[in-house]
Amino acid sequence: MPDAIHVHPHDVRDEGASRVVEEITNRTGLRTIVAEVVTLEERHPYPRGQLPHNPRHSVIVSRATLEVPLAAGLFAGLSVRPLLSSAARAGEDYLQTLRAAAQPHGTAVIPWLKALNGAFAGEPEAICVRIVGGKPIATWLCPNRAETAEVVSRLAQGVLERHPATAVLLDRFRYPDWSGAEVAPERLLTCFCDTCRELMEKDGIDLVLLETELARLTALAHRDPRLLLTRGLPLPARDALEHWLAFRQKSITTLVTTVAERLRAWGRETGHFAGELWLNLWPPSFAPLLGQDYRALGTVCDGAKHFPYHRLGGGADLAGLVESIAGRERPALREEVFRALLALLRLPGAPTLESFLREGFPVEFVKRETALAKEAFGPGTPVFAGIQAWDTPLEEIGTACRAARNGGADGLFFYCYGWAGLEALDEIGRILAR
Ligand SMILES: [Zn+2]
Repeated sequence: MPDAIHVHPHDVRDEGASRVVEEITNRTGLRTIVAEVVTLEERHPYPRGQLPHNPRHSVIVSRATLEVPLAAGLFAGLSVRPLLSSAARAGEDYLQTLRAAAQPHGTAVIPWLKALNGAFAGEPEAICVRIVGGKPIATWLCPNRAETAEVVSRLAQGVLERHPATAVLLDRFRYPDWSGAEVAPERLLTCFCDTCRELMEKDGIDLVLLETELARLTALAHRDPRLLLTRGLPLPARDALEHWLAFRQKSITTLVTTVAERLRAWGRETGHFAGELWLNLWPPSFAPLLGQDYRALGTVCDGAKHFPYHRLGGGADLAGLVESIAGRERPALREEVFRALLALLRLPGAPTLESFLREGFPVEFVKRETALAKEAFGPGTPVFAGIQAWDTPLEEIGTACRAARNGGADGLFFYCYGWAGLEALDEIGRILAR
């Protein structure tokens, strides 16, 4: 059972690689570290609190930069290249330091890459996703652009050539959700770039109907979100939306298949990589909305981690979405929007928005989502469950682990070293020793 723990670059830079590896080894007993190679636009820890054992920072905000110094020439001829962090620009390779410290402990370091989402140098607007109406999201590449598969493949190859690994975790093969540097629900409405519009029309999508409907729904959301969430859509509009969601899933599956084939072929030809390709996926209840089709992806990857962080609402910032739709001032409307969203996504109910903000989903959510993922993947492809080890009472770490195992998880990926307190790391050690 490949249990693992996630580590961010600042953990290693601020605490020192030896200390990070020793704390993980001594407290948790884990021998697999999943190390972030491209960061997100993210507050650490998310969404609140302080880094409990970082000696230099109480909070860090990362900027979606590449943290390993790959040569710019690797991306020659392409519209974009990942933007290097200042440390990587100075030649520092934190992954190298971490691997050197991990090696004497027999600990594996798995690179964790972000595929479509990141900060890019060059001309991101040439190949990034566009919201209905045409506004670009410059930090998110369009899955249907031919160059995108090339950017992602070269990034993975560059990292794996420098850092041989038994597996690689590929994240953010999907469309944008509503959160990023800020909460913005219209980010859900991509991609309407020229390439996608052409492909959608070829696929038989009625673009005029789809765009009119999305514009109408957006206007309704601003005017009265209750109507948006409670009134059923007319059938042609519902068909167009479903067709669009299916098109998005097909687009992501095609891209993942292309990148996986290229990486495996490159690994065979060069001898640089013969490991497993793991995906990082949203829990199954959210996945189809973001372009992730578990059934199809399960046949392409060698395993996947999903992240049903129950206290956070399954990794989704539901509270942020509710607030951005209903505003802060109208508690009754917020409650209504929250209930409607749960119903829309067929999610288990927290009794009220207030209790959700306090306690998240019931821990049963971890079992349910893991079982759904297992069912979609079938017995041959492992599912690893992300376990929330921060911003949660200690006893719930164990409850979440049991729930994941009862759902059929093939491994537990603890999230994450830097956000969890040392007592949480000790608790992980006790759970895994049982
Ligand atoms: Zn597009």
